[in-house]
Amino acid sequence: MKKLFVFGHNISYSISPAICNAALGVMKLDWHYALWDMPAEAVPQAVASLRAEDCIGANVTIPHKEIVFRLMDELSETARLAQAVNTIINRGGRLVGDNTDGIGFMRALREAGINPRGAHVVIVGAGGAARGVAFALAHAGAASITLLNRTQSRAVALADELRQDTPQLVAAADLADMPANPALVVNSLPASVPLDLRSLRLSPDMLAFDLSYRPAETPFMRHAAGQGARVTNGLSMLVYQGAASLKLWTGREPDVKVMFEAAYRVVTPPSTPSPASPENR
Ligand code: NAP
Repeated sequence: MKKLFVFGHNISYSISPAICNAALGVMKLDWHYALWDMPAEAVPQAVASLRAEDCIGANVTIPHKEIVFRLMDELSETARLAQAVNTIINRGGRLVGDNTDGIGFMRALREAGINPRGAHVVIVGAGGAARGVAFALAHAGAASITLLNRTQSRAVALADELRQDTPQLVAAADLADMPANPALVVNSLPASVPLDLRSLRLSPDMLAFDLSYRPAETPFMRHAAGQGARVTNGLSMLVYQGAASLKLWTGREPDVKVMFEAAYRVVTPPSTPSPASPENR
């Protein structure tokens, strides 16, 4: 049996094994995807173990995406820009780092009815997930991205990198620069982080997108819905980034309907908007 993993720490909530094993089952592959919870100091050895012949690769989640980035033999352009790896592929003992968070996010965003071209966007957070999402939005033609992060220097650095990569983008890292009416507000902080949202102005014509999916309705989503905004959680993104990773490992298009069904056995689907139900696709 060939092996796949998700690397992370304190990730017992992760449903990646359920959704990926469901897809591998219908692909009739004798592969197994397992959760591997480890502290940062164990990451280099775990990464090295992926070079074995029976290892296909791994997903990487909080908080290891940026450590893993530094341990790869080769990087995709997407991972290089994001400076974060969420997918490791073992190519004959050489480890290739890629990042499918942006692909997953953009597909979920499209299904929620948002076209980011020309849109003003606010992203809360500047970690690995925020980086993947920010570059994807910049490449999709967003007009402006305002980054709000506890460690402001990280948000400033990311805004600088975004401007260098996409010179027409207005990228800022200060609440004072927040556009009056963003079309999209993305929360990339873990759901457990208490948020002070009083200064975030939200309105009914915007989408509040939380990358977290457990609980199904996060405090950020509750706050946004209370202000009349449309809300969604990160479940669709999770399925789509997982599907993109599976395509990198198998070379085949996985069955996302099966993956959503597996996800919904564990997590309640978001109520508004409801782009992610398998019946809708
Ligand atoms: P990360 O690289 O560790 O970044 C964490 C972010 O949260 C940073 O901006 C960090 O700010 C901030 N933060 C952490 N603790 C905080 C606190 N106590 N107060 C204020 N800010 C705090 O993690 P990540 O990989 O970006 O993941 C972030 C979240 O996104 C996770 O919940 C993950 O599950 C979710 N995610 C979902 C998907 C999906 O497919 N749905 C994909 C990727 C990630 P500092 O810079 O100040 O430390």
